Amino acid sequence: MDLGNVGILGNPVPKRSHGAVSHLALDIGGSLIKLVYFSRNSEYSMKDKEEKSSNESLLVSSGEKNYPLIEGSLHFAKFETSKINDCLEFIQRNQLHLSGCERLGDTASDKCIIKATGGGAYKFADLFKEKLGICLDKEDEMDCLVAGANFLLKAVHQEAFTYMDGQKEFVQIDHHDLYPYLLVNIGSGVSMIKVDGDGKFERVSGTNVGGGTFWGLGRLLTKCKNFDELLELSHQGNNRVIDMLVGDIYGGMDYTKIGLTSTTIASSFGKAISDNKELEDYKPEDISRSLLRMISNNIGQISYLNALRFGLKRIFFGGFFIRGHAYTMDTISVAVNFWSKGDAKALFLRHEGFLGALGAFVSYEKHGFNDSMVHQLVHQSPISSSHGGYKIHGSQNGELKDNESIECSVYAS
Ligand code: ADP
Repeated sequence: MDLGNVGILGNPVPKRSHGAVSHLALDIGGSLIKLVYFSRNSEYSMKDKEEKSSNESLLVSSGEKNYPLIEGSLHFAKFETSKINDCLEFIQRNQLHLSGCERLGDTASDKCIIKATGGGAYKFADLFKEKLGICLDKEDEMDCLVAGANFLLKAVHQEAFTYMDGQKEFVQIDHHDLYPYLLVNIGSGVSMIKVDGDGKFERVSGTNVGGGTFWGLGRLLTKCKNFDELLELSHQGNNRVIDMLVGDIYGGMDYTKIGLTSTTIASSFGKAISDNKELEDYKPEDISRSLLRMISNNIGQISYLNALRFGLKRIFFGGFFIRGHAYTMDTISVAVNFWSKGDAKALFLRHEGFLGALGAFVSYEKHGFNDSMVHQLVHQSPISSSHGGYKIHGSQNGELKDNESIECSVYAS
């Protein structure tokens, strides 16, 4: 199957040759629908059956069992939830939902089951049934976020990184020293989850001032037509035009006694009180930057306070609000660093927005679907093989392109 040239949120799916698709999983959130699915390499599928029985080197042992190694790609895609029909059409056009039917060995439409998480798995269940004839098998949202994060941190080489002063540094995670950590998922709203192990976690906090607030308020204040435009605007903006700084209050001086420089923001949007200006008098780019800074800084600070509550040193940030955006990550890192006095670290994830969808994806295994079961992803590149991850296609600087695919191998039973 070739998914080339299918436009999603303005980004074409990379052209690539596909074999059988399996394990479509969905995360239907308040703002975005995320899709993850696996496709076998078509060349491999042809040889698959013979090699399964004849080629020992393609068998991998796990516990008591031997599993054949299947090569293919993990695919990622996203759609705006408000444009759910585009998502349904994409699934239909590429027959992604049929993987759920095949797995049960029954093509009757009422037996097609697809794993789904997020509130939309409930809200849109009837729509999926009506338009595609599939039943959404609902997985808990928090379970999936944690399962997705644990999966990424254990299985993917160069997944986590720090970002400070424009410098990105990948962090090698020791699997035996992963827990406990704080997972902060910044979607429409924000969840803060203390993770102690596989399936062992507690949602310890959250905030309603999140990605939805940035986009919603930003849209009202700037008249931007889409999220990327608003984010792009923030690049050119200057928040000091709108934010009230310590220096504005102290006549240009620092407040050294408590460690505040003159450029520290004392009050986000505070200058608008005394400027005697109307909304139209401010540049949209300055508004966007100030808003982004306010929300990112606030989330960074609340996250750190929660890490402090439980003595956690590592905070992993996910969710599509981040979008790998330099200013967002920098602001969050500075907030964590400032309040912890350098003690705690903000870490970001390359597949930030797909935690829930990946959690739903790996839940196929949990529920014991045995045909083409994903047991464990393994790397196939000789370079990455020593790191216990799998090979990522795309740019070498670690940026994940929209709807990028990952080439990988899985054990299958
Ligand atoms: P949810 O599951 O709540 O939809 P996500 O992790 O998908 O959460 O993040 C949603 C947030 O991501 C939005 O509130 C917005 O801040 C941001 N975002 C990033 N890209 C887009 C986009 N193309 N359209 C809308 N929001 C986007």
